[in-house]
Amino acid sequence: MSSIVPNENGYVCLSFDFDGPSLWMQRRMTTPTPVSRGEFGAVAVPRILRLLARRGIPATFFIPGHTVETYPDESRAVVDAGHEVALHGYAHELNTTLGEEEERAIFGRSIEVLDKLCGTPPTGYRAPSGELTDQTIGLLVEHGIAYDSSLMGHDYRRYRVRRGDALPASGPAAWGAETDVVELPMSWTLDDYVYLEFVTFRRMLMPGLRRPEDMFANFTGDVAWMVREVAHGVCNVVFHPQVIGRGHRLAALEAWLDELGELGVSFARMGDVAAAFAAGTELGIEPRHPC
Ligand SMILES: [Zn+2]
Repeated sequence: MSSIVPNENGYVCLSFDFDGPSLWMQRRMTTPTPVSRGEFGAVAVPRILRLLARRGIPATFFIPGHTVETYPDESRAVVDAGHEVALHGYAHELNTTLGEEEERAIFGRSIEVLDKLCGTPPTGYRAPSGELTDQTIGLLVEHGIAYDSSLMGHDYRRYRVRRGDALPASGPAAWGAETDVVELPMSWTLDDYVYLEFVTFRRMLMPGLRRPEDMFANFTGDVAWMVREVAHGVCNVVFHPQVIGRGHRLAALEAWLDELGELGVSFARMGDVAAAFAAGTELGIEPRHPC
């Protein structure tokens, strides 16, 4: 895996959670209509790969084992295009609902599937629905996973994942010990799903369906602030093929990539950023211009 080329303006990591139908399976929405929404992800992946290839942009795809086994050709195409593939559960299981042995078995199976797909074991992990638990962190450590991308404790800087935080109601937080796992943080504000996807749940409705240009204006605001205020910052952005893969959204994505080009940032795979951090590269130096 190549490393990152130093760029004081910073880096943007494009990530794509290729959930397929597993996202809907997690919610027990397995009638043909929600499943078809997941199927659309496999339609969108070749479009996204063409778009990235035209611009020579490397990216990271978090792919559940279920997606790899259901869509082997699309998953293979991601690897063949030189993108990174990282862990995202087997069938998008919600970690908060899993017993330790159950989660360990799912973890092992997911690693096996990705290892077979890529020829090398995965080094990164994003918890399905972003639900990381202490138990999951233990498994990341156990399997020597280099980085996680599920937490929201910073925006432009890497940090170490902790284990065993205690939050007593009677006193201050007692933070747990840092692990070797690097956190490449995400945020709902940098995730296409919450802006764009229309979902009706039993007790609530997620309206989504916003203009993608409005979403990308928020994304640009975060990247532009980083370029101005932080040296060697890293901004991680989360997309879902089944969400971003529609025509008007892909067009807006292309326009946004043009904007990022003008801001002078580089694109990097998350595994490369994690490896650079582990090797001692300073990232996310704030303020960029000490006064
Ligand atoms: Zn997902």
